[in-house]
Amino acid sequence: MDKVTPQSQTPILSLVCTAFGHDYIVTRKITDHISEYKCTCCGREVSNSYSGKFEALTYKQREVNECLSSFFRKKKRISIH
Ligand SMILES: [Zn+2]
Repeated sequence: MDKVTPQSQTPILSLVCTAFGHDYIVTRKITDHISEYKCTCCGREVSNSYSGKFEALTYKQREVNECLSSFFRKKKRISIH
């Protein structure tokens, strides 16, 4: 048992988050309603979806956000009078 998995690096911090909740900060604003967040405690990254639920920021979720972000910017530009 001399192998260290990435998940086992911050067990204590993860426990703190489990007990008291994650301390998220906004790392990236996607739209007015959707942002990406990162926990300052354990480094967990999440994003909220249109349903308002927080989801783990996976590679796929990142791509979706990237899409949304560019779409949102275009839409905003067009709507400016
Ligand atoms: Zn956390």
